[in-house]
Amino acid sequence: MSRLHIGCHLSSSKGLEEMAKTATAIGADTFQFFTRNPRGSKAKTLNEEDAAALLRYCEKNGFAPVLVHAPYTLNPCAERPEVAEFARIVMKEDLGRLETMGVRLYNLHPGSHVGQGTEIGITKTASLLNELLDDGFTGTVLLETMSGQGSEIGGTFEELRELIDRVDRKTSVGVCLDTCHVFAAGYDIAKDPDGVLTTFDRVIGLERLRFVHLNDSRFGLGMHKDRHAPIGGGEIGTEGIRRIVNHPALHDLPFCLETPHESMQEYAEEIALVQGLVQYDG
Ligand code: FE
Ligand code: FE
Ligand code: ZN
Repeated sequence: MSRLHIGCHLSSSKGLEEMAKTATAIGADTFQFFTRNPRGSKAKTLNEEDAAALLRYCEKNGFAPVLVHAPYTLNPCAERPEVAEFARIVMKEDLGRLETMGVRLYNLHPGSHVGQGTEIGITKTASLLNELLDDGFTGTVLLETMSGQGSEIGGTFEELRELIDRVDRKTSVGVCLDTCHVFAAGYDIAKDPDGVLTTFDRVIGLERLRFVHLNDSRFGLGMHKDRHAPIGGGEIGTEGIRRIVNHPALHDLPFCLETPHESMQEYAEEIALVQGLVQYDG
């Protein structure tokens, strides 16, 4: 098997290229970051020189693609006009920034319908994507698989498929599989990754899968609780994670840890732990 591409969520507060250097220091060759504070306040002004330096650094050091995560407060199918407007403004601005930075992947939670119903939620998220995905954005928006907590949409592969079906620019959408979320949603990726990925392929198509969020789960299978645990410290467990990172349909994708840790040292150790699970031949 080829070397696993893995990283973790990093803070961009010290600059973009600095973030990539931090990744190298902890043994990572990909990462995920927010373009603004995770709660979604105003984005920092984009330093184009730093953005160019980030891309050069990633290319020179053989990084896998990096991922920008949309703010958690961005609900693309919100009912309240001011929340819907916030989603439109932030996402439009983020997609423009990605294009300027040369970053290609934007991770989006498909949204919470908050009582409107799944059908309306999917319709609203699709219509926002149809409004914002145009020639000005050449990257890919990744819809994240969700745990189905509360009124989240995207807790089943069928809902993601339905959403993709309603997007006009299908080449601009893909999927990010979060191992904690799919497990919490009821897909047993720990014991039967092959069965889960076969279902994913049948319903969505594996060609849409572009990124993996590698997290253990504090709660059990199908509990619909989105609580990440450190690798090996949750219900997926070390053996489950071993099956996931060695699965041929996943192995060559970029992996990003979103596990709860305090220090970069702990992420460095966790990355080493996961690399140690990969069955390299020869
Ligand atoms: Fe996420
Ligand atoms: Fe995630
Ligand atoms: Zn989560």
